[in-house]
Amino acid sequence: MKKTTGTDRSVTRKWRPATQAVRGGTWRSEHGETSEALFLTSGYTYDDAQTVADRFAGEAEGMTYSRLQNPTVAMLEERIALLEGAAACRAQASGMAAMTAALLCQLSAGDHCVAARAAFGSCRWLVDHLLPRFGIETTVIDSADNAAWEAAIRPNTRVFFFETPANPTLDIVDMEFVCGLAKAHGIVTVVDNAFATSALQRPLEFGADVVAYSATKLMDGQGRVLAGAVCGKQEFIDEVLLPFQRNTGPNIAPFNAWVVLKGLETLSLRARRQSENALQLGEFVASRVPKILHPGLPSHPRHDLAAKQMDATGPIFAFDVESRARAFAVLDALELVDISNNIGDARTLLCHPASTTHAAMSEEDRADMGVTEGLLRINVGLEDPQDLIEDLDRALAAAAL
Ligand SMILES: *Cc1c(COP(=O)(O)O)cnc(C)c1O
Repeated sequence: MKKTTGTDRSVTRKWRPATQAVRGGTWRSEHGETSEALFLTSGYTYDDAQTVADRFAGEAEGMTYSRLQNPTVAMLEERIALLEGAAACRAQASGMAAMTAALLCQLSAGDHCVAARAAFGSCRWLVDHLLPRFGIETTVIDSADNAAWEAAIRPNTRVFFFETPANPTLDIVDMEFVCGLAKAHGIVTVVDNAFATSALQRPLEFGADVVAYSATKLMDGQGRVLAGAVCGKQEFIDEVLLPFQRNTGPNIAPFNAWVVLKGLETLSLRARRQSENALQLGEFVASRVPKILHPGLPSHPRHDLAAKQMDATGPIFAFDVESRARAFAVLDALELVDISNNIGDARTLLCHPASTTHAAMSEEDRADMGVTEGLLRINVGLEDPQDLIEDLDRALAAAAL
């Protein structure tokens, strides 16, 4: 494999993100293929016994088994790391594999983790149910309240875990403050950056230690595969994450890694256009519904902070139509927009979190994090925004809005 086209860090680090997105991490085989090759192999063969012995001893470079390394997966990891500005990245089978690995690889019984209240349902499940089963204490707080982060710190606090913007209420965390606070107390911050991606927001620049992804969302961007990633310092990835990952096996399939690699080539274009469309649609929806949660609109309580932290506010926003009956009436009247709980897709998708992504939570926890019965979450795609406005216009009217 020729690595010269995109993996020499002294060269690729100097490239700007648009160049890295298309070329970073490209390894070319002796065939000189233009597009990245897809290595569907679980194992590797060796010319002689000493070669494999050296590789297993960590004394020679080279692949040994696809749970440990795979060329297609390695290309994806290199490209994500470059875009993120991270020293290293490891791809995972899904976003939840990434979140689970990022937390479990560094937390032990007796440790304490502080997590944001507003979060993807399964992220909350990890914090509320999985970690406590292993003797890890957890505290859930209002992530938009800086004082709450500070008040939650205990002598054994090891990790802060949050999303910004958060799913589905679009809460924005003050990363500079929260990451700075963590640093002062020797706490590791794990940021779930799925809603923004590095195309719109780079948490490491605000002091985050670990950035974890559902690459299923904007990175793939076309609703095809499940994927995830964890980025961080070399030492964290090599010495903390890798022993966990290599022995527990939440690895991404090479085919899925290849799909995400191709998705990254257009990530910035899609993220920016979808953000513009989401702003246009948001302004329309704001004129028709009682409440909208959109970090790109001045009505959002942390609109200025979002503008500081993000290049654009992303494809997702939420709005409240006051009751489940009305929310369902809107969904059932759609002609163009799909009813779907996925996000980051090039298609516009509308979903009712209380009965889907956050249905497994208790009613009390849902209310506490702002997932009301009338809340709808929209992922705005790449369609013509005028067509989307016309579809929502009709759907909102069908719900007497
Ligand atoms: C979707 C999502 C996840 C989970 O990712 P999967 O790829 O579905 O496992 C985690 N965090 C956030 C914020 C998400 O939106």
